[in-house]
Amino acid sequence: MNHTAHTIEKAVKEIADEMRERADRGEVAHYIPELARVDPKHFGIVVIDDHGHVACGGDADMPFSIQSVSKVFTLTLALGRYGDRLWQRVGREPSGSAFNSIVQLEYEKGIPRNPFINAGAIAVTDMILSGHQPREALGEILRFMRFLANDHSVTIDEAVAASEQRTGFRNIALANYMKSFGVIENPADLTLGVYFHQCAIAMSCRQLATAGRYLAHNGRNPETGMSVVHPERARRINAVMLTCGHYDGSGEFAYRVGLPGKSGVGGGILAIAPGKASIAVWSPGLDANGNSHLGRIALEALTKKLGWSIFGV
Ligand code: GLU
Repeated sequence: MNHTAHTIEKAVKEIADEMRERADRGEVAHYIPELARVDPKHFGIVVIDDHGHVACGGDADMPFSIQSVSKVFTLTLALGRYGDRLWQRVGREPSGSAFNSIVQLEYEKGIPRNPFINAGAIAVTDMILSGHQPREALGEILRFMRFLANDHSVTIDEAVAASEQRTGFRNIALANYMKSFGVIENPADLTLGVYFHQCAIAMSCRQLATAGRYLAHNGRNPETGMSVVHPERARRINAVMLTCGHYDGSGEFAYRVGLPGKSGVGGGILAIAPGKASIAVWSPGLDANGNSHLGRIALEALTKKLGWSIFGV
C-alpha cells in the first residue's frame, strides 16, 4: 500500500468510527413508505483512489436505494444518445428550490432548470425511453449500471419501485405538467414507470464508488482502461453535479465539501474528487433539503483531512 492509500484508509476509518457514534442522524425519507422503514443507524463509506485502492468503512457492502444518484448515470446515457441537443429539453442552472418543486416549471414553460431536480430527471428518462419499450429502456439503464459497477448482481428493489409508484403524486404531477408543454414525448405513466424503477436501483457504496470512477478520471475507468465518455463530457457532468447535485443545498455542499456530488433520498451520495478518487457514502437520515445528513458531514471531514476540496485546502 502506498503512502496516499494509507492516509486515505486512516481517514476513512476515523470517519466511520465517528459516524457510528453520532446521535444526530437526520430523518429517513417518509414520503416513500418503503424508505421510511430503513434503519437510520446505517453508515457506509467507500473511497476508490486513482490506483484502484479501495478504502471502506461501516456498511460499505450493504445495498441501499440509490434514488436520485441514478440521475447522474441517466444523464450520462442520454448525453451519449442525444449529445448537446439534450440541453434543449432541460437546463443546467441551479434551481434554488426543492427537488420536487413545480413552481419554476410554469414560468419557464415546462423546461426543467437542470437534469437533477425531479422534473429534469423525468425529462431525461423520457428521452431514454423514446423509441423503446419501458422494459428495454430500463434494461439499458440497469445494464449500464452493472457495467460501470463491474458487478452483475446490481438489481432493482421492486418493493421500493412499487412504493413510489403508489405514492409518487408529485412526480406524477410534474410529468403531466411537462407533458402539457410537449417536453415529455411518451405517455407520462410509462416515463414515470421507468423513472421510479431507475430510482429503485439498489447498490452498495462499493458498487456506487466503482460506478463513479469514470467521472474522477476524465471519462474512463483507469482500471479497465474502458472509456465511458469523452473527457470534456465528464468535466461537464461534474460541473452540473457541483452546481445542482444537492438541490437547494448545493451551495452549502460546495461550501462545506467542495466536490461535485449527487445525493439521493435513500441517503446515498456519490462525490467525485477529480483526478483523485470516486467516493460513495450512505446514511439514510436526511437533512431539511433531502440530502444525507451524516453523508455530508462525513464528506466534509474527508475533504478536510485529505485536502481534496477543488477550491483548495
Ligand atoms: N425517487 C425520488 C423522487 O422522485 C428521488 C428523489 C431524490 O432522491 O432526491 O421523489
